[in-house]
Amino acid sequence: MELGWGPEEEAFRSELVAFLDREAPSEAVGRDFSAATDEEGIPEWARLWQAKLFDNGWLVPGYPAHLGGRNATPAQSLIYAEELASRGLPRSLHFPGYAIVAPSLLEFGNKRQKEMAPAALRGDTIWCVGMSEPDAGSDLASLSTRAERDGDRFVVNGQKVWTSYAMWAEKCFCYVRTNPDAPKHKGISVLIIDMDSNGIEVRPLRHITGKAEFAEVFFTDVEVPAGNLVGDLNDGWRITMGSLAHERGGLWVQSVAGLEHAIESLIAEARDLGISSDTSVRRLLAREYAEVSSLRSLGYKGFSTFARTSASPEHSFLKLASSEMTKHLAEVGMRLEGGLGTTIDTTHLGRPGRWAATLLASFAATIAGGTSEIQRNIIAERILGLPRE
Ligand SMILES: Cc1cc2nc3c(=O)[nH]c(=O)nc-3n(C[C@H](O)[C@H](O)[C@H](O)COP(=O)(O)OP(=O)(O)OC[C@H]3O[C@@H](n4cnc5c(N)ncnc54)[C@H](O)[C@@H]3O)c2cc1C
Repeated sequence: MELGWGPEEEAFRSELVAFLDREAPSEAVGRDFSAATDEEGIPEWARLWQAKLFDNGWLVPGYPAHLGGRNATPAQSLIYAEELASRGLPRSLHFPGYAIVAPSLLEFGNKRQKEMAPAALRGDTIWCVGMSEPDAGSDLASLSTRAERDGDRFVVNGQKVWTSYAMWAEKCFCYVRTNPDAPKHKGISVLIIDMDSNGIEVRPLRHITGKAEFAEVFFTDVEVPAGNLVGDLNDGWRITMGSLAHERGGLWVQSVAGLEHAIESLIAEARDLGISSDTSVRRLLAREYAEVSSLRSLGYKGFSTFARTSASPEHSFLKLASSEMTKHLAEVGMRLEGGLGTTIDTTHLGRPGRWAATLLASFAATIAGGTSEIQRNIIAERILGLPRE
């Protein structure tokens, strides 16, 4: 049985590696996939890097050239995700535009809206996604931000919350209720809202880490041209499923690579602290290593299912396991450091400080994109076939 990559995949990898070695900015290498930005906004180097990836067909390799890709196969897209992940290299520090909005515009938008996709991918337009509300998170279909038709425009009133990058975004891909009388999944639509419209107020929210990367967004009588409706009226639920196209099958690689980096750091730290020959420390680290290796194998298995069927139940498990394991590894790091492990130095992220800061940051991944409890529900119902009640 041949388990290696074929010559076409290896040629793809060589070209990519040469590009990354030559072009990746020093600020990006090792940056990892936290969407970390500071309060001054998206750094200039990150915007230039995203544009360079797009211009060279390396932003979303599975897309055609005019969308920042090169028609890569699913296997090549997986190699791409692995190479970036092994360097801790982000494509962008504002994911909603390229990862969520552009695929949705391409799948559901009209001609004018599809034409907005290249700028979203290249990072020329910064987008935010307005889904969650104070009373609608896991149960997104309960959203109540109201859009009422008034001639050639909609008038929007309501509130979004946890809206990543809203303070810097030029546009919002916003889920609104357009028919309050229909069953809740059937009265939702999507509007493109210019963030400089009258009546929008953005209030940054600070994470437990001390950074403010998301915000509350308030809409008061905000006028939106009727032509900014994406897809059909009251058909927004279909769009919530989005379309990550070629991307979805490779996303797990980032999480697994992040865990592998963390274990390597833990091993290095145990050596520095002179405790690497302690049997209990070795056993602890070996167990973590075995666990992440099994996640990688499961990822490959899921990828092969995904490449054939465009769906893979393994992804819910990988999301759950990798986000929870990040939390756990941070706790292991704090334990290795003893008393100093609880101190935080977020300025230099040196030791001590790194693991306590990682622990605080790690909670976000267990909530965003579907909480761990929701993943467990999905696994129970759709994979194990357990009854809903
Ligand atoms: C870093 C970060 C960035 C985000 N960015 C965005 C963004 O850009 N745009 C956006 O719209 N949203 C964003 N979110 C919001 C995110 O999608 C929601 O936080 C998430 O969907 C959970 O919703 P909630 O916070 O309202 O919690 P709730 O849904 O109120 O859940 C509260 C608790 O109850 C549990 N729970 C809820 N329902 C069930 C159930 N059926 N069974 C078992 N347990 C349940 C949950 O697991 C959770 O522990 C972001 C969140 C984070 C952390």
